[in-house]
Amino acid sequence: MKIEMKNGKLIVPDYPTIGYIRGDGVGEDIFPQAKRVFDAAVLKIFGEKKKIDWQKLLAGGEAFASRGEYLPDETLEQIKENLIAIKGPLMTPVGESFRSINVTLRQKLDLYACVRPVEYFTGIKSPVRAPEKVNMTIFRENTEDIYAGIEFSSSSKESKKLINFLERELSVHSIRFPETSAIGIKPVSPDGSKRLVSAAFDYAIKMNKKRVTFVHKGNIMKFTEGGFRKWGYEVAKNYPTFTKLEYDKIKEEKGTEQSEKEKNIALKSGKIYVDDAIADNFLQQIILNPDNFEVVATLNLNGDYISDALAAQVGGIGIAPGANINYESGHAIFEATHGTAPDIAGKNIANPSSLILSGVMMFEYLGWQEVAELIKIALSASFHSGALTADLGGKLSTSEFTDTLVQYI
Ligand code: NAD
Repeated sequence: MKIEMKNGKLIVPDYPTIGYIRGDGVGEDIFPQAKRVFDAAVLKIFGEKKKIDWQKLLAGGEAFASRGEYLPDETLEQIKENLIAIKGPLMTPVGESFRSINVTLRQKLDLYACVRPVEYFTGIKSPVRAPEKVNMTIFRENTEDIYAGIEFSSSSKESKKLINFLERELSVHSIRFPETSAIGIKPVSPDGSKRLVSAAFDYAIKMNKKRVTFVHKGNIMKFTEGGFRKWGYEVAKNYPTFTKLEYDKIKEEKGTEQSEKEKNIALKSGKIYVDDAIADNFLQQIILNPDNFEVVATLNLNGDYISDALAAQVGGIGIAPGANINYESGHAIFEATHGTAPDIAGKNIANPSSLILSGVMMFEYLGWQEVAELIKIALSASFHSGALTADLGGKLSTSEFTDTLVQYI
């Protein structure tokens, strides 16, 4: 049965239809295993009262083999209709004319918030000294920035035309090699930034988080990344917050003691502390003081770098989940954040945890909280018992790891 969005609320029937894209490469190894876990957890919690009505959707290599296209319209239409899907990784076909299927899905469905929680599970080896201090959720803007795909190659007629226009009409004279430069465009809007930041605040309130940080490179890109920061602070005014801007103003007028005092009073009354960090400094801070950060809102490219860096701190991309969501339409695609891992595909050795944790996010989104919690507890117990796949230093295959996990369900 169809999941629907009514008056801003997701209406989930007892037998919701959910589309799944198996994915390419390791997708073939991990998807069937993750699905086993999802079905076992739903059965344990609900018996026959509730069950997922899985609908297979074609995309990537599998779609190309049977339909001659990588993303059939039918797949997109079915996700549009049923709102929610979960997917394994999809390869981006090599060749300049191909756009990433993942990026296309996000843009076509306007899935503007890429949500990536990063947390540590005991038992996993990490390259840092105190991985348990990492517990952050990244809200990465998913539709703008240089990912909009407006790029023209070096010396092309389009690049030359654009460079000419910039020089003639806008008096731009800082392009160092105008004859040969490739050109990319970075659109960042208040509309796009504000809806993403609002989603981050809604999440912070729902999850009882105490700090939201905007990460940007506004010192260099004043109007795009600096704009994101400025619009972020504007959104903060609509929420119960105490911002770094307020702190600095009080400090300037009344001194540090007073600003500290007012900040403490605000935080004790339950307000969220809002600040911002320049991206390069932030990447340093998440290694030195990760426990300073809780919810992070950032632009598309920064978010891409940050989430992989954070994933490495807690054990790697084999355990990093993600979701792409439009909170207004309700459309959401949950996905493993890693790629198709061609080096290990087909060997039954990949870690299915990233996809399993993406499923946890999906169950939370559906409001099936008990299922989400059960899977997470089982996953923690498995790691704790030393059940690990090769990427985490263990010896278990994909299916052996899943066997252990299912035993804890
Ligand atoms: P990758 O994420 O596939 O692999 C990077 C490294 O991580 C590899 O060493 C791989 O073995 C390892 N790895 C990845 N997933 C793992 C898992 N579940 N368990 C254990 N180890 C794992 O990145 P790549 O090699 O740069 O990309 C390969 C293909 O995937 C490309 O075609 C790329 O476009 C695509 N891709 C897709 C997505 C997506 O579908 N969301 C994301 C990134 C890359």
